[in-house]
Amino acid sequence: HPLPEGANAAEQDWPCSEADAHDMLQEFIENNVARYSQERDRPDKDTTSRLSPYLRAGLISARQVWHAVEDAVQKHGHIAENAWTFLSELGWRDFAYTQLFYHPTLATENLRPEFNDMPWQNTQKLLHAWQQGQTGYPLVDAGMRQLYQTGWMHNRVRMVVASFLTKHLLTDWRKGEVWFHNRLVDADPAQNAMNWQWCAGTGIDASPWFRIFNPVGQSEKFDPTGAYIRTWVPELRNLPDKLIHTPWKADPALCRQIGLHLGKTYPHPIVDLKEARAVALAHYKNLPARQKED
Ligand SMILES: Cc1cc2nc3c(=O)[nH]c(=O)nc-3n(C[C@H](O)[C@H](O)[C@H](O)COP(=O)(O)OP(=O)(O)OC[C@H]3O[C@@H](n4cnc5c(N)ncnc54)[C@H](O)[C@@H]3O)c2cc1C
Repeated sequence: HPLPEGANAAEQDWPCSEADAHDMLQEFIENNVARYSQERDRPDKDTTSRLSPYLRAGLISARQVWHAVEDAVQKHGHIAENAWTFLSELGWRDFAYTQLFYHPTLATENLRPEFNDMPWQNTQKLLHAWQQGQTGYPLVDAGMRQLYQTGWMHNRVRMVVASFLTKHLLTDWRKGEVWFHNRLVDADPAQNAMNWQWCAGTGIDASPWFRIFNPVGQSEKFDPTGAYIRTWVPELRNLPDKLIHTPWKADPALCRQIGLHLGKTYPHPIVDLKEARAVALAHYKNLPARQKED
């Protein structure tokens, strides 16, 4: 499908042939599979296989990936545990296709019908800020800008921005699903829809609605030195590591010194996390279908 908007880098990032897909797999097996479990959640390290666009385009199959990794385990037993974690991700991929097969409306209808009464607020201004990477929460903005500029976003950050959109911004997950679908180089009707429903809590075996990621905590944990944020949100580049996740806490004198003007060069946070979380939980608790259950 056509390159996502703004994705000028995509052609260089994703050399497009079957041989390239197999080279990428071999490179991953040689260099990164042995540390997959420890590093798979680290957008700053970026050591996952990056095979999803190739799997999506049919340039490599899940079985080829499976057998190549299994062969590597035969030769290098010590990688077995990490390799197994990696292979289990391929299981999620198949689970998504199974869901789409049984629920052809996966991308458009809540699998859990109680969410049909969810009073999404769908505030246009908030959705726009999220799309443009201008929410004032650095990890969210880094991910959304990476997506916009390259057609790619690390899985951990996909989860964080999806939770933020649906829960803190109370925006219908379908708006996020469409935005991702039109921009991701690995855009896939089953993978994208299942994962959005998982993050929103509306799907099968989904993360529960009350599991609301804190974008600051996630940022401190998974991008500890802010290397990922610095790449995609250059206006925060000169903040010390301690403040890169919470620029609004920076001293005004420091901001002046590094040319950071909150509200001008970088936005103030668009919502208060604590308040937004409480509103999201209250709306969920008050869903009529849930009250009947209780
Ligand atoms: C909101 C959201 C939307 C997503 N949309 C898509 C999409 O449109 N297309 C897509 O391929 N993936 C999607 N994913 C899943 C996941 O983010 C990507 O598959 C992964 O980031 C690809 O990077 P990788 O190949 O380096 O993964 P690795 O970590 O190397 O994993 C290997 C393979 O396992 C599969 N896999 C890994 N994580 C998942 C997952 N959560 N669900 C299903 N399969 C997985 C992929 O095929 C991936 O290539 C989405 C995730 C979220 C949270």
